[in-house]
Amino acid sequence: MSNDRPRPDLATLLAAVNGQDGSVTPAIVQSSLFTFEGFDAFESRMAGQSTTPLYTRVQNPTVAAFEEMMAAAEGGAAAVGFASGMAAISSSLFAFLRPGDRVACVEHVYPDTYRLMERMLRPFGIDVTYHPLAAFEEDADLLRGVRVAYLESPTSVVFQAMDLPKVIAHARRHGALTMIDSSWATPVFMRPLELGVDLVIHSASKYISGHSDTVAGVVVASDEHIARIRDLTLPLFGAKLAPFEAWLLIRGLRTLVPRMAQHQATANLFVDRLAALPFVRRVNSPAVGAVPGLTGRSGLLSVEFDGSIDIRRLADQLRLFRLGVSWGGFESLILPACIGLAQAGEHNSMRKFGVSPDLVRLSLGLESAEDLWADMEAALRNSRN
Ligand SMILES: *Cc1c(COP(=O)(O)O)cnc(C)c1O
Repeated sequence: MSNDRPRPDLATLLAAVNGQDGSVTPAIVQSSLFTFEGFDAFESRMAGQSTTPLYTRVQNPTVAAFEEMMAAAEGGAAAVGFASGMAAISSSLFAFLRPGDRVACVEHVYPDTYRLMERMLRPFGIDVTYHPLAAFEEDADLLRGVRVAYLESPTSVVFQAMDLPKVIAHARRHGALTMIDSSWATPVFMRPLELGVDLVIHSASKYISGHSDTVAGVVVASDEHIARIRDLTLPLFGAKLAPFEAWLLIRGLRTLVPRMAQHQATANLFVDRLAALPFVRRVNSPAVGAVPGLTGRSGLLSVEFDGSIDIRRLADQLRLFRLGVSWGGFESLILPACIGLAQAGEHNSMRKFGVSPDLVRLSLGLESAEDLWADMEAALRNSRN
């Protein structure tokens, strides 16, 4: 995908889905199957000579409308929706990997993606190694013999961003397929396909939905890569996106641009003010332009304190920030790392990658930035040891 192709205005593009009879929203086509006018039409559809909808596990008009919007937003040829971000991730990996293959994965990958690598890929005979961002950028031989380079930029938890063009140059030299989880940036702040990434994956449960009311995923890539997923894991794992969820995502996409602008404004305010506090060791939030192609700062960031903040008290003192997993909706959330570090079960990525118990993740929502800051400031004041 070339960089000099004129970009359509994203907001205009995302507003362009219309329904029937003048409605400004698409219909929710809540039908499991689609019938045919006659034997010939049915036969030619089954023989692959036509592409009309057949069965909602693999194809549905409302889902297709969402997929077209996502492909356009990312500047990709095609897209495929899924029931969740994890369905999009697992369906992408299993479509391209075979026993004996190797995956090079970025450190601080999303915790359930790490579990997928360890608990599902590894038992199927796929080797997975984890590397810091700098190794992906600087080590020209890291991807030798690697089938898939699995990236997140910025990563989860510590939000480190990578120089994608550098990594992609190494991947191309070694014939490695690149996949990136781009949920943090959304197509508003980064378009990885234009930087040369092969598959862009989103947890659409986050900013794309934008309202914490659905769980969904999507993959955007070339026709060839999407065709492979549509041929293998979409129909055979069957973790399809539902028509109503697709409709909610279309609704969400229409306000993505202004929502991201507000998330960014609030994040800028928080980054500046948090970084100025004497008991803050580090604020993890990549600056605009810190790496090529990253044109904005989303509202998901983390703060590491110097040990003098009682995190339990901080969490309980906050009024506007609520405690919970996930992110990207209207409401602001806090997720203390110590809760993730203590999570039950095997393969805890936060322990594996050495996350500090003094870190908290903040999802800055769409409330007034000054109200959110006043809430944070008061809670911090009452939480000093
Ligand atoms: C939430 C999340 C996922 C998983 O998405 P689901 O929709 O919850 O399955 C994947 N990657 C990142 C970065 C996430 O934050």
